[in-house]
Amino acid sequence: TTFADIDLGEALNQNIRRCKYVKPTPVQRHAIPISIAGRDLMACAQTGSGKTAAFCFPIISGIMRGNQFVQRPPRMPRMAFPQALILSPTRELSCQIHDEAKKFAYQTGVRVVVAYGGAPINQQLRDLERGVDILVATPGRLVDLLERARVSLQMIRYLALDEADRMLDMGFEPQIRKIVQQMDMPPPGMRQTMLFSATFPKEIQRLAADFLSGYIFLAV
Ligand code: AMP
Repeated sequence: TTFADIDLGEALNQNIRRCKYVKPTPVQRHAIPISIAGRDLMACAQTGSGKTAAFCFPIISGIMRGNQFVQRPPRMPRMAFPQALILSPTRELSCQIHDEAKKFAYQTGVRVVVAYGGAPINQQLRDLERGVDILVATPGRLVDLLERARVSLQMIRYLALDEADRMLDMGFEPQIRKIVQQMDMPPPGMRQTMLFSATFPKEIQRLAADFLSGYIFLAV
């Protein structure tokens, strides 16, 4: 299998070639077709397994494909309406995901913004105001943005939780639950969720039971 065999859309396939990715890693080979088919997914994935592309490719491809069908967000100039949310535990990981996602989304029209805590919020607010399709965020900073009414999650069609076990270890479960509660894309069932974790303790299984529907469990 090569990436060219997976129907991701020409613009994305071109960016994948630019990144010199030829052969999908195991997690990519299995996760991408499941996500393209619209199924929820819980995947076992370690750092270095290529999981970033595994959740970014279906999201970017889906946004490119679906853009003409998406209902318009309400006109609220200072409120951002992302279609995809990628939650990650740390600033470093969020920035890495953002850098990669921007390369994958190059010249696709899909806009990627990152927001993380421990840094001034003003630049992030300006980035959000310019428009965002994919928001990469740490849970605490996203709750802050929601409380300031600068981000709405009502248009979210894709949710990816990266390193979910680490987010729980860091005590982010209340923030994550608060965030997911705010996602209410009509019609119901339109949200697709991907949960990536290195380990699967009871807490992660509970999260999966609460956030995913009819999901496929992938262990590679
Ligand atoms: P990740 O596990 O997502 O942090 O990816 C680990 C590293 O592998 C990153 O530097 C990626 O750019 C690279 N990578 C991911 N998928 C592929 C692929 N299919 N071919 C070549 N390199 C890849």
